Amino acid sequence: MEIKLYNTLTKSKEVFKPIKAGAVSVYNCGPTVYDRAHVGNLRAYVFADTLRRMFEYNGYSVKQIMNITDVGHLSGENSGNADVGEDKMTKALRREGMPMTLEAMYKVATVYFDKFVEDLRELNIELPEKFPRAADHIQEDIDLVEILVKKGFAYTISDGVYFDTSKFDGYGKLGNIDIASLKAGARVMANMEKRSLTDFALWKFNPTLGWNSPWGNGFPGWHIECSAMSAKYLGQPFDIHTGAIDLIPTHHNNEIAQSEAAYDKPLVNYWMHNAFLNIKNGDAESKMSKSDGNFITLETLEKEKISPIAYRYWLLMSHYRTPANFSYEAVRGAENGLTRLIATINGYPKIGGKISTDYKARFLEFVNDDLDTPKAIALIWDLLKDTNVTPADKYATITHFDKILGLDITKKLIPDSKLIVPTNIVALAEAREKARQEKDWKKADALRHEIEAAGFDLLDKKDGGYEVKKK
Ligand code: AMP
Ligand code: ZN
Repeated sequence: MEIKLYNTLTKSKEVFKPIKAGAVSVYNCGPTVYDRAHVGNLRAYVFADTLRRMFEYNGYSVKQIMNITDVGHLSGENSGNADVGEDKMTKALRREGMPMTLEAMYKVATVYFDKFVEDLRELNIELPEKFPRAADHIQEDIDLVEILVKKGFAYTISDGVYFDTSKFDGYGKLGNIDIASLKAGARVMANMEKRSLTDFALWKFNPTLGWNSPWGNGFPGWHIECSAMSAKYLGQPFDIHTGAIDLIPTHHNNEIAQSEAAYDKPLVNYWMHNAFLNIKNGDAESKMSKSDGNFITLETLEKEKISPIAYRYWLLMSHYRTPANFSYEAVRGAENGLTRLIATINGYPKIGGKISTDYKARFLEFVNDDLDTPKAIALIWDLLKDTNVTPADKYATITHFDKILGLDITKKLIPDSKLIVPTNIVALAEAREKARQEKDWKKADALRHEIEAAGFDLLDKKDGGYEVKKK
């Protein structure tokens, strides 16, 4: 079945065509590990995981790379300029009273990297093939900057080596960045030595901290890390690059400029971006962000007795390209729904059911249509109400859909030996159901006796269907 994805580059939904048949290569911009991730950051990874699961469900082999930014991400990015401000990692060192060394930086990054992986596991996110760390790829960054210097795309000023965006045709093509109004809007260029406002650092000098390079001691720019690591692990072009929408104007346009200038071929074929998780700030909703101090982690949710999986379910109830407004009430509401769903299917026979081909086709149509998870979830509720599908089949179908939704439903079911029905009994119950539907009452009765004699109760439900339980 065809898969359609919304491509930020073309601003349209396109039929996905892989570079290599049956395989898909995906790069996710990963977290900056200077602190705990907030649930807004985690939206980006639930989205990436849903994408991965959708491809796996469709029979693709997925190669997914998620980088870990543990150097080079400057705090100035929050004010729209990624080349100024303090490195977020040195901020963490200061906050935690650690020495200002590369070793300490690696150590503190490892702590938050581990916590991040814990968060992913709690959200039942499948881990990518690799989490390359920026600090382990400095040589790859230097090699790439050297190519750009040799090809005339870079120049050096007092605080670093910069990419000359005027040399790259079509700079800002992702999201159609309006460079002219950007320039008009900027009253003062943060760095007067830069040739253009949009030029960005490839390598930043730092005499006391960092790595040696042909241009001087310092550290890589944040953008070059993603270009170098994606090329190393996925080649160029690869299939899909993801991130949240805040990365479009600068980080992703800069990745495109560097990678395409260096290798004269497209960086990636499909760009996919998730919308923000917002939170109330005064009267208005705005992006959840650490700098505003108005953020929530999975730990906070758990203190509020909300499970991470309920948060995942709540996220999936919105399309990934629609902003979601966080509130405890909303997520609690979702948790109630999920609990109801699990309790309902808990009462169904857990073996012997068949996946409904009709529902499977509709489910696939939704998820393959640019991950329309809200429609896929609504379909599950329709299925629960459908009296033409047996409870055993409902159970088989919904637990099958969970391969994509990742709600870990089967682990949440109450282990109750009364509910575990052997296959031969389910087969008898299904045969009886068929006999009943064909109005062969004699046969239906005989099968009921056989089931009861084997120690099981057969209950016909008011709304159609049946339930089998051990006596
Ligand atoms: P960072 O750790 O700041 O590098 O961000 C990690 C990921 O989270 C990036 O893909 C960001 O674009 C994304 N992100 C940050 N804030 C939000 C938010 N409020 N909602 C959704 N995604 C976000
Ligand atoms: Zn990135």
